[in-house]
Amino acid sequence: MKPNYRRCVSCRRVAPKADFWRVVRVYPGGEVRLGEGMGRSAYLCPTQDCLRAAQRKNRLGRALRAKVPDNVYKTLGQWLEGRYDENMGLDFEIGSCADP
Ligand SMILES: [Zn+2]
Repeated sequence: MKPNYRRCVSCRRVAPKADFWRVVRVYPGGEVRLGEGMGRSAYLCPTQDCLRAAQRKNRLGRALRAKVPDNVYKTLGQWLEGRYDENMGLDFEIGSCADP
């Protein structure tokens, strides 16, 4: 694997790590959270399919060797929905610029 490439725990896709969500079991506290942090980490595509598979098959939990709290999945689900809002916001801005 190339440097800075990571593998999705659900579909096994390999891509630059910026393409993935990072879930980390922080050291030394041991709690599982999203984003930055030192510790054991797992990567997941930012898609509904991979999120669902990760939750159903406990892929994240197994990769991290820890219990993944429901709110981690909930937050990721909200981020997915948020992406659509962001796109709508962008369209709106372009539209309002074109208006005299
Ligand atoms: Zn994936």
